Amino acid sequence: MSLKYTCPGCGTPLGYKGLCWNCKCEQERTAALAWTPQQIAEKQRNLIQNIRRLGDMEDPEFTDFWQLLSYRDAITPEIQRAALAAEAFWPCEIYYHAPADVRDGLIHALLSTEDSSAASNLMSCLAMQGDDKAMETLLELERNPRPWRKGLYADPSSYAQIGGWTFDKEGHRTQLNFNTCYPMVKGTSGEKSPVRIGQPREDTCPHCGGRMADMLVLDGRDERLRFLGLDGILTAACCPSCVGFLKGPALNSFSLDGGVEILPSELFDGSERMDCYVSPDDYKALTENPFVLGRAPVPLFYGCASEDVNTVGGFGNWVQDAEYTACPHCGKPMKYLAQIQWDTVFDCAEGTLYIEFCPDCQIVSMQHQQT
Ligand SMILES: [Zn+2]
Ligand SMILES: [Zn+2]
Repeated sequence: MSLKYTCPGCGTPLGYKGLCWNCKCEQERTAALAWTPQQIAEKQRNLIQNIRRLGDMEDPEFTDFWQLLSYRDAITPEIQRAALAAEAFWPCEIYYHAPADVRDGLIHALLSTEDSSAASNLMSCLAMQGDDKAMETLLELERNPRPWRKGLYADPSSYAQIGGWTFDKEGHRTQLNFNTCYPMVKGTSGEKSPVRIGQPREDTCPHCGGRMADMLVLDGRDERLRFLGLDGILTAACCPSCVGFLKGPALNSFSLDGGVEILPSELFDGSERMDCYVSPDDYKALTENPFVLGRAPVPLFYGCASEDVNTVGGFGNWVQDAEYTACPHCGKPMKYLAQIQWDTVFDCAEGTLYIEFCPDCQIVSMQHQQT
């Protein structure tokens, strides 16, 4: 079947006239990055006035919110106060690092509710607010569960993970994501980069027989990546075809000199064999992708407003709930490292690969999620 149109941005064949999905996202991002201070102030004002529309996913408020947050880091305490006053508790990202008065309002609402789903939303909001008093409240609710806990699947410490942190029973806090975010951008051919997506490997997958790939190779010694605390190379390797069909995440251990050992995995349905869905052309596209590490850091939620941005650090745009892998060696939750949008490196592919690692045990986890 040949398609009638091509995307004027990238030349991808399309069944309709106009920009392809990825080029459209890029165009919207470029526009948001060019907003003047006056335009930003106007959008912030409108959001404050119509904050209720955000929860109903109405535009322009819904799109404005995500673009203000993700591209301009421009969600102000005034927006957070308006959201609290309107009891707008979704999306929880509104409350990221909200000031103390807003936090106290969230705590009050959480301790007053008897409803499981309201409690669920409010715990997510407090997780995003994320200060010590937010933790004390969640810890107290974990130790002394309210009746609404029966209606939920997860403990308050799991809700905290949504905000990029968690705590143990003794109340020790662990940070699970990094306070710095870099985008992957399209580089010129041959451009050097301390982060590469999709490097070829020679070994093959025990399930499908296809070639494994280094999905991410990252050199922590680059000045930009110092925030990761890695004095060498981290490699995340898996079978790009099977990674979405495993029981749990794909895992490998790595050594800072670039070494990799793939850890054993099982297919989700317990079968021995699986077809390989990555053709030689797909593999070539993956390993010849143009992405290099961006020059400057971006807001922490930069990868969360659309489904076409690959990022290192910050927050992922988890398709399902944020799900930090427990390290198979020490049992502690891993740290969130990077997301790779499948359709930026494969034609017509869906979903996102989320990469985490345990700095203590030097183990990497890769999970593929799609809607
Ligand atoms: Zn495979
Ligand atoms: Zn570990």
